[in-house]
Amino acid sequence: MKTDVAIVGAGPAGLCLARALDGLGLEVRLFDSSPAGLLAEPADDGREIALTHASQAILERLGIWQRLDPDELSDLRDAAVFDGESARPMRISHADGGRDRLGTLVANHRIRKAAWDSVAEQAGVEVEAGVSVEGTLLSASGRRLDLSDGRTVEADLVIAADSRFSNLRRAAGIGARMRDFGRSMLLARMTLEGDHEHVAWEWFGYDRTLALLPLNGRLASAVITLPHEHARRLSELETADFNREVTELYRQRVGDMRLAGERHLYPLVGVWPDRLVTERLAAVGDAAVGMHPVTAHGFNLGLTGIDLLSGEMRAARQRGRPVSDPAVLSAYQRRHRLASLPLYMATATVVGLYTDDRLPARLLRRSLLRVADRLAPFRQVVARQLTGKGGLPGPLDLLRGSPP
Ligand SMILES: Cc1cc2nc3c(=O)[nH]c(=O)nc-3n(C[C@H](O)[C@H](O)[C@H](O)COP(=O)(O)OP(=O)(O)OC[C@H]3O[C@@H](n4cnc5c(N)ncnc54)[C@H](O)[C@@H]3O)c2cc1C
Repeated sequence: MKTDVAIVGAGPAGLCLARALDGLGLEVRLFDSSPAGLLAEPADDGREIALTHASQAILERLGIWQRLDPDELSDLRDAAVFDGESARPMRISHADGGRDRLGTLVANHRIRKAAWDSVAEQAGVEVEAGVSVEGTLLSASGRRLDLSDGRTVEADLVIAADSRFSNLRRAAGIGARMRDFGRSMLLARMTLEGDHEHVAWEWFGYDRTLALLPLNGRLASAVITLPHEHARRLSELETADFNREVTELYRQRVGDMRLAGERHLYPLVGVWPDRLVTERLAAVGDAAVGMHPVTAHGFNLGLTGIDLLSGEMRAARQRGRPVSDPAVLSAYQRRHRLASLPLYMATATVVGLYTDDRLPARLLRRSLLRVADRLAPFRQVVARQLTGKGGLPGPLDLLRGSPP
């Protein structure tokens, strides 16, 4: 079997890349180890994805945003960052970003469903569900993939979109640095007694990190990061005990909190691959950078990467060059790394600072938050990174060299 582009992984990244290749006249094959039923009706995985305005614009261009039910979109108006027991947070306001909100919260399974439905209608894309890719080798005329059902497929270009623990990346000889944070993130939808006012909180306690993501009505997603065993114990409590413990953890700041769905547990591992490309292969989505979720950049960066790679492929087609041209792949790698390195480093620094309970670290973060809160330009830079609006360029603007 031969194809122009083989995408391995029909998660949000693989599906969005398939959409971004629409109109290039390429034959695309998409493989995923999960059965078709699960991909078409993905289960709620507890993740509420905070999308920036730039990501919304990309999803609109891909025709995916339009498929999301407006009732399932929640405004992320402002953000508040608390340190320890201090009652005064650093506040990042939508007004600093020049928009009516900093971003939008959408459940991950809704994004997956909307992306799946758009790809299902796309001409030139063949989806093979329930098929794993087990290995890859270069051949004289392309890159070969070995499939779990014994078949092989040869592609001009192969895309690894098979998660941060990408087997394909490893099979192609690309190493990665992994950082196990020794903590897990517990996610649960909760009904609040109080009003969240559409403000997202990040609350760095001394042995835990708590976030609250505002959903429509009185709903919110509680995001609790703890050493793994503590998180597991919390996830297994009886509902009444769980409600009591979570309400206490959040210090009654939004009144009583009651479980309104399933609980989901994610062990936290960050991944930084040595490279994003090798001959006739490029990694996208979490396979290109596996972010710690605390700064909510993972899928936003995934979309940035998809925009960059598909843009390079489009330009190659216009010049009559193959999409697997080494120049295409190296330009993608360079631009993606420019976008992701500062965010990956900054996230690692934030995580390091906020999981270090020694006195110097506590003092440093308290003063950093105080200074940041008083510096309007700092708050504006953060807000405008999210809204992509105003006099300060967002990461994509910087990469494109275009004015914001
Ligand atoms: C708790 C949590 C909260 C998050 N919150 C945010 C947020 O607020 N904002 C944000 O931008 N991002 C957030 N993220 C990150 C975001 O969820 C990920 O970046 C995104 O889901 C990654 O999509 P992906 O398609 O790259 O990978 P995945 O979703 O992991 O999909 C990979 C796909 O590849 C398939 N696959 C794997 N191996 C094979 C194989 N060998 N053969 C065939 N198929 C294979 C799998 O079946 C799967 O369908 C969060 C992540 C977590 C864990």
